[in-house]
Amino acid sequence: MTRRRWIADTWDEATASLVGSQAAHLIRVLRAQPGMEFDLVAGGRVFHSVLAGISGDEVRFNLIAEVEADPALPVTLLISVFKFDRMEWAIEKAAELGAEGIVPMIARRSEKHLAQAAASRVERWRRIALEASQQSRRSDVLRIADPLPLKSAIRQEEQTLRLVLAEQERSTTLHHALSEALTAAGDEMPTIRIASGPEGGWTAEEEAMLDAENWKAVSLGPRILRAETAAIAAMAVTASLLE
Ligand code: SAH
Repeated sequence: MTRRRWIADTWDEATASLVGSQAAHLIRVLRAQPGMEFDLVAGGRVFHSVLAGISGDEVRFNLIAEVEADPALPVTLLISVFKFDRMEWAIEKAAELGAEGIVPMIARRSEKHLAQAAASRVERWRRIALEASQQSRRSDVLRIADPLPLKSAIRQEEQTLRLVLAEQERSTTLHHALSEALTAAGDEMPTIRIASGPEGGWTAEEEAMLDAENWKAVSLGPRILRAETAAIAAMAVTASLLE
């Protein structure tokens, strides 16, 4: 049987703790008792653990032995915000598919009220990312950045492969661009950033900005996908080439 997995709030070499809402869930819903066994993720490593004690709203564990875990894929999705129920779905799926991070982005055609409300949604998005990461037995949590305007989100100092999903692109598929880049990189796993547009698509000005920042336009095929489908399909294609 697989042990239920938790991502520790605090830890040292031999012990780890859950506090706050995670601890409350464990105490009330799962009726935590000393001796119960779980997997605890501490500092990106996974440990077979035994519940040692409960005090107030803290649950403490002894870390017994490290178990093998797969790290996230080096992929960050820059997602132009869309309707929040669909955004939450996309965050959950991105966590399941192994994305390292999501940058919620405000594009020119992002709906005004969504753009304004995005900043106040981040905490909820982070909770969803934490739950989905635990549920899919990751050893780390999908990171959700603070929302950024497109102009600053697409500017990055570090060397990364930058791909922008564009429904007008006809010649280069995401699959093709990634395969080529992975072959060229040899043994080194490049870090990858993939940007997806809002429901209304990119403006010509944004396309020019992306081009100037070395983002390569790639296609997911001849059909127009909804924004959340495009982001998750791109993540699945990328995962299939990296794993
Ligand atoms: N407004 C456009 C569709 C935008 S779809 C129209 O109706 O014509 C939203 C986003 O999903 C796009 O900006 C793009 O990033 C991505 N997307 C959708 N379909 C795609 C495809 N076939 N290939 C690549 N990206 C796609």
